[in-house]
Amino acid sequence: REDVMTSDLRSDQVILEGKLGSGQFGEVRKGRCQVGGKTVPVAVKTLKNNDPDGEKEILSEASLMKSLDHQHIVRMIGVCKGETLMLVLELAELGPLKKYLERHQMMKLWHQVELMMQICDGMEYLEMRDVVHRDLATRNVLLVNDHFAKISDFGLSRILDNNSEYYTAHGPGRWPLMWYAPECLYYHKFDSSSDVWSFGITMWEIMSFGARPYSKKKPSQILHFLESGNRLDIPRNCPNRIYQIMLDCWAWNKGDRRSFRDLKPHLVEMYEHYKQRDI
Ligand code: ATP
Repeated sequence: REDVMTSDLRSDQVILEGKLGSGQFGEVRKGRCQVGGKTVPVAVKTLKNNDPDGEKEILSEASLMKSLDHQHIVRMIGVCKGETLMLVLELAELGPLKKYLERHQMMKLWHQVELMMQICDGMEYLEMRDVVHRDLATRNVLLVNDHFAKISDFGLSRILDNNSEYYTAHGPGRWPLMWYAPECLYYHKFDSSSDVWSFGITMWEIMSFGARPYSKKKPSQILHFLESGNRLDIPRNCPNRIYQIMLDCWAWNKGDRRSFRDLKPHLVEMYEHYKQRDI
């Protein structure tokens, strides 16, 4: 497959169509983009009323996305400075995985594991490049088709610089606390092993068909709940070996968690196992 990857797009190359969703700083619209003599379907993140904070955020998201090139990560096509700033992304037609799960409560086990395996593959790529996503959740995984997932929303992501082992976040922001590892909640320290924790929560969401984690708890109760050794329950009909991987992702000490690189072969093996049996 040929991929289009340019940086600065002229506004006459981008045609906006209907609304897909709303983001933090504006709408996300469906559209078409003319690049390299072809017209490709795109998703366009637009900025409301030229908010300077929003502009900075979108540009930093764009410069990070530009450096990424992986089949399970949403690709950026370019940035377009029209009346407002727009981030032009490849379109993932089926939208967020969370909503897909809510609509498909009868998915086969192999299909669920297939999506986990693909997310893990994309995350391994980020881990290798010292990029911390910080917002991995089924709402931020998009589907190109029923069997092809892509990680999106790099709004909170950061590249770790050479000397630091983790990224320290400042300011309150809008944090997805239910997806965060203890060290993120305590010290605001993020690295790939905190993404591994979020991956465990994402696996739990997939096995629970889009249910909300810790639905009966207030965000302020989570840390105490985890500190006392509690974790999310095993989802209904979830095989023990899948739940065991989630528990490994939720090791209290980040050094005890497995890396994406280490998780991937286990998911591949499980996928093949269930696929063969068609369960
Ligand atoms: P937030 O941080 O609040 O989640 P955001 O500003 O980062 O919002 P996104 O989550 O990236 O915005 O996008 C908002 C919605 O737009 C998504 O939930 C999805 O429905 C849609 N969307 C975004 N990117 C794409 C894409 N590449 N293909 C299809 N739909 C997309």
